Amino acid sequence: MHDAPEQRPPGRALLGGSFNPPHIGHLRLAIEVREALGALVDTLVLIPCGTPPHKRAGSLLPFALRAEMTRAAVRGLPGISVSEEEGERQGCSYTWDTLTRYREALPGRILYFVIGTPDFALLHTWHRGRELPRLCQFIVVARGEQTHEPFAQAARTLWPGARSVAPVLPDSRCMALPGGGMAHYLPLPWLAVSASRIRERWLRRQNVDFLIPRAVDELLRIRHAEVAEHWKGDGMSC
Ligand code: ATP
Repeated sequence: MHDAPEQRPPGRALLGGSFNPPHIGHLRLAIEVREALGALVDTLVLIPCGTPPHKRAGSLLPFALRAEMTRAAVRGLPGISVSEEEGERQGCSYTWDTLTRYREALPGRILYFVIGTPDFALLHTWHRGRELPRLCQFIVVARGEQTHEPFAQAARTLWPGARSVAPVLPDSRCMALPGGGMAHYLPLPWLAVSASRIRERWLRRQNVDFLIPRAVDELLRIRHAEVAEHWKGDGMSC
């Protein structure tokens, strides 16, 4: 009799961001990555950041409002949820800390951390960025550019010895990283939408229909004074 094949419990996909506000680019990304990972994950979790180390914080809406908007944005989307854990921590929100918590909470399960190519190429500037493959596999998506080459180049620069291997996910490229890590490149289309442009348009009272879900638009309307006050701000984060 053969041994039963190893049954690994499904992993989890994690998508961090400011979500200031959440927009259709985030939602399409979440939906298509969730789809691409299929049975490899149980859920894709959107994680609004507490205090981002890399972004200007003046225009950042309070965590509770960004979390509320993000929850409203994903309501009814199967297999996609929101975690508010970064709002509970003091100081800068480091991906290293967030992933460490997930590692502890979900032993034996693979974490798939979603990241755009430009941020992936800058991981050496993140807190313990080059060590992140100890905690997660990367799902890298292009931001604008269409080829996988900048992804492969970034992987080789960050981790000398990284090499192309057979893809695990359909239509993807895969790099094996030294030490056993993996980075998968998914050629998903990038919608020309950004939260900064939406903030600018909203402040000028220009139309933002179809750029953000209606439920988010509604929250922005209800909280108009508070949102306007923050989005006009321009301070630095930690
Ligand atoms: P900002 O304009 O304020 O810099 P943003 O629109 O880039 O914000 P973030 O909250 O910083 O949004 O992004 C969170 C995640 O969503 C990141 O992984 C980012 O790469 C991805 N993302 C942002 N915009 C898009 C988009 N238009 N299409 C697909 N993914 C996106």
